[in-house]
Amino acid sequence: MIQTDILIIGAGPTGLFAVFEAGLLKLKCHLIDALPQPGGQCTELYPKKPIYDIPGFPEVLAGSLVDNLMEQIKPFQPGFTLGERAETIEKLEDGTFVVTTSKGTKHQAPIVAIAGGLGSFEPRKPQLENIAAYEDNGVAYMIKDPEVYRDKKVVIAGGGDSALDWSIFLSDVASEVTLVHRRNEFRGALDSVEKVQHLKDLGKIKLITPGEIVGLQGIDTLESVIIRKSTDAAENIMLETDYFIPLFGLSPKLGPIGDWGLEIEKNAIKVDNTLDYQTNIPGIYAIGDVNTYPGKLKLILCGFHEATLMCQSAYQRIFPDKKYVMKYTTVGGVTGFDGTKKEAPKAVVKAIN
Ligand SMILES: Cc1cc2nc3c(=O)[nH]c(=O)nc-3n(C[C@H](O)[C@H](O)[C@H](O)COP(=O)(O)OP(=O)(O)OC[C@H]3O[C@@H](n4cnc5c(N)ncnc54)[C@H](O)[C@@H]3O)c2cc1C
Repeated sequence: MIQTDILIIGAGPTGLFAVFEAGLLKLKCHLIDALPQPGGQCTELYPKKPIYDIPGFPEVLAGSLVDNLMEQIKPFQPGFTLGERAETIEKLEDGTFVVTTSKGTKHQAPIVAIAGGLGSFEPRKPQLENIAAYEDNGVAYMIKDPEVYRDKKVVIAGGGDSALDWSIFLSDVASEVTLVHRRNEFRGALDSVEKVQHLKDLGKIKLITPGEIVGLQGIDTLESVIIRKSTDAAENIMLETDYFIPLFGLSPKLGPIGDWGLEIEKNAIKVDNTLDYQTNIPGIYAIGDVNTYPGKLKLILCGFHEATLMCQSAYQRIFPDKKYVMKYTTVGGVTGFDGTKKEAPKAVVKAIN
């Protein structure tokens, strides 16, 4: 059983920053995330897009923001359970909570902070009868490691940025890339559409539009796909391939957290925003995109603010008899759990005092 002070569900920017604020109060954190890497939407959906509304950063790439947050929380040595979804919660007699993941990992803490964002991301899957049999055996819904596809035959389906960008990228890695889309027009960036067209002219990408994957074949692992070109089945094409990657987008779902007895409104968790972002269950907080209250804005900086107030309230719940006096980090410095110290220059401290 993993034990900690604050168990954070969701390692997006809000969950990560909560570790820093908790660390200043000497509270230890452990994070659970369904994705294999931290960063939430920033890493999963738009790592290379610049963000312009993080105070103090005129411009920062979403991926760099996550790297910086990871650096900032390093001294507080958070634990991570990645690639596992928080499934169930149980309240013990001593008032602590036990959260169990999809892989059966158990975590115990007096405080649970749900920073689940829009929920855990589930890939939109094509309606193909036998697709489940080929998952991890030739069918993939996300590309984690492009090297897996080196010198292999790959069929990608989809009409958005993901399908276009990965087709372009894999044209230099795979032995054969075929992009299949139901329509002749793509939804992705014009620049990417032009690049795909250019690679098609060079013979580096096969483009099949309009086309739709209607069948998967293979003994044990995927060996070929059936592509429908028109309403006439006689025109269907059989294409040999090692991988079929449908990139139809990710749909976020609140998932099992929706069944934890929390007050839910429009797929978000209701919290008390007049105080500390606590839910209707004392000891369980909801911060960042996952919560709702009058005037809620789904912005990273709002998640940071909510995480800060949540940590102060969590401290009072864990230590009801201790009086905490807030100090600026510029005065008190930052001392990591590993003993590392970032101290404010003495002159600054003297001037403030
Ligand atoms: C294209 C795009 C551009 C954006 N641009 C900006 C911008 O410029 N400025 C700005 O402020 N905001 C922007 N946003 C919004 C911003 O990304 C979100 O406000 C922010 O990511 C919310 O952070 P979070 O940590 O609350 O949630 P998320 O980033 O959504 O992270 C939540 C994490 O929780 C995990 N999770 C959920 N449920 C479970 C579970 N049951 N078990 C385990 N893990 C779970 C998810 O896997 C996810 O990793 C943008 C969003 C998008 C999509």
